[in-house]
Amino acid sequence: SGTLFIVATPIGNLGDLSPRAQQTLRDVAAICAEDTRRSGQLLAHFGIATPLLALHEHNEEAIAQKIVARLQAGESLALVSDAGTPLVSDPGFRLVRAARAAGVKVSPLPGPSALVAALSVAGLPSDRFAFEGFLPAKPSARRERLQALAAEPRTLIFYESSHRIAEALADMVQAFGDERPAVLARELTKLFETVLDGNLAQLQARVEADGDQRKGEFVVLVQGAGEDADAKVIEGRRLYARLKGHLP
Ligand code: SAM
Repeated sequence: SGTLFIVATPIGNLGDLSPRAQQTLRDVAAICAEDTRRSGQLLAHFGIATPLLALHEHNEEAIAQKIVARLQAGESLALVSDAGTPLVSDPGFRLVRAARAAGVKVSPLPGPSALVAALSVAGLPSDRFAFEGFLPAKPSARRERLQALAAEPRTLIFYESSHRIAEALADMVQAFGDERPAVLARELTKLFETVLDGNLAQLQARVEADGDQRKGEFVVLVQGAGEDADAKVIEGRRLYARLKGHLP
């Protein structure tokens, strides 16, 4: 059977489509895309004429079977989303599950993802983190979700759109407190790329005060609950230094 290639595409800067991704998108029989118009523009930019197939949340289950049949018949296909890595807050999970269940090879073409890009510049603890994707749109459900995360020790990563960034930050201040260190990564790899850091209250004030800071696409990162790991190490050393004089 053919291979299903899962291809990451740029989250802003078109220069981030890797040469191997370009070649794969040229070589496959068809490309499954969330929004064929948007992906068509990307492909046109690279002079890639491979046919596109619409695959979105609503038709994924039904169309997955047809795609798997084509793979089993020997065709290789690719999956892309509008931006970044497919399946990360984007369609594809059902298709990949169906392909794997059918014994079809699924191979990644890794590349941009807003969550990893944001984490890589945030300067927050990054050895462990929890990706929460989008918060619920309904205020009550959103507050409940945040409340449930208040004691989470890992760095939290959220996706947010310009419509709700101000409300989301206000709810985070309520759930996690004014002082919690956080980072707002906006428009990564694009013209107005901005990475703001501070505590949640400071970031909320900044976004409230400056309309430009509410425009575009956002990743919000919040340091986990509990003592700062470094603070613990420093306190431990201090205690040891004090005790040392008293030890035999
Ligand atoms: N699959 C994508 C990925 O791998 O990052 C995410 C798709 S999700 C539908 C879109 C969300 O990702 C946006 O609302 C925003 O939270 C985040 N995002 C995408 N591009 C971004 C960028 N250039 N800068 C900041 N956040 C971005």
